[in-house]
Amino acid sequence: LLYNQVQDLKGAIRVYCRVRPFLPRQSNGQSTIDYIGENGDMMIINPLKHGKDARRVFSFNKVFKTTVTQEQIYADTQPLIRSVLDGYNVCIFAYGQTGSGKTYTMSGPDLTTEETWGVNYRALGDLFYISKESYFITLTRYTLDIRSNSQMNGINVPDAFLVPVTCTQDVLDLMRIGKKNRVVGATTLNERSSRSHSVLTVHVRGRELVSNSILRGCLHLVDLAGSERVDKSEAVGERLKEAQHINRSLSALGDVISALAQKSPHIPYRNSKLTQVLQDSLGGHAKTLMFVHINPELNAFGETISTLKFAERVS
Ligand code: ADP
Ligand code: MG
Repeated sequence: LLYNQVQDLKGAIRVYCRVRPFLPRQSNGQSTIDYIGENGDMMIINPLKHGKDARRVFSFNKVFKTTVTQEQIYADTQPLIRSVLDGYNVCIFAYGQTGSGKTYTMSGPDLTTEETWGVNYRALGDLFYISKESYFITLTRYTLDIRSNSQMNGINVPDAFLVPVTCTQDVLDLMRIGKKNRVVGATTLNERSSRSHSVLTVHVRGRELVSNSILRGCLHLVDLAGSERVDKSEAVGERLKEAQHINRSLSALGDVISALAQKSPHIPYRNSKLTQVLQDSLGGHAKTLMFVHINPELNAFGETISTLKFAERVS
């Protein structure tokens, strides 16, 4: 196999933590991240608390500082992307509360400057670059609006469509169409996207050089719905129901990945639409990468702790 770099990926489940910088208008804020070590460890601190609740240490496969570039993020993702050409199924998730940088990691802040492109475009560009004519690539893009009614793999998925693509420009065009579709009625893109999972699936088919057999690999790039808990006293009716659906689907995803990490004999795929759709690419010989995103602001401390606990459970 040509691009088998998987030996440097210990274990099928990896967790990377990315801390987003303070945004320009909040540049003099106080950070809850006390330190980030070289070996994937970090400490979070709440200066308003004392004793054991005030600070905690977490360890992951990697922790990225606020100064990390999109290029460096991709460099640590690339081996996984390339293993798709060897016939592996790969899932990459972006997890975190709304505003923590999920879309920044997966797509980037805008499509016009290549330098800030996220994992999605770099991954596609990489696959096109390596595969040339020897592979056939198709793309599916859809949003999993937690409760809806069209079909895929026998599971209800709205707005899914499959298109052959030959270059990064095709992908960019597709993304622009997808973005337009996501703006519904009066809600803004961020409001919309924080309430649905956005999935980009890349199907790759090629021929194995030695045996001449057909290889199939699949890459799912998932920008998850915002993980924040909704205050029951504030959210009512549809909004509350929606929030509960999201929380349920994210914890179902956590249950599946944590069962896989513990090599449990029973993996509870059937508990959410998301895990049903991705079942073939979670577990077995598949590989999973979870990017957890941290908002370093003090007022996000509670959400940050629950995000880190989620990440700890799945790693
Ligand atoms: P989410 O998708 O989790 O809701 P976004 O990706 O939209 O969050 O990020 C929220 C804001 O923070 C955006 O304005 C985005 O450009 C900015 N941001 C996020 N991550 C970074 C980063 N690593 N560097 C600079 N700005 C970032
Ligand atoms: Mg987003």
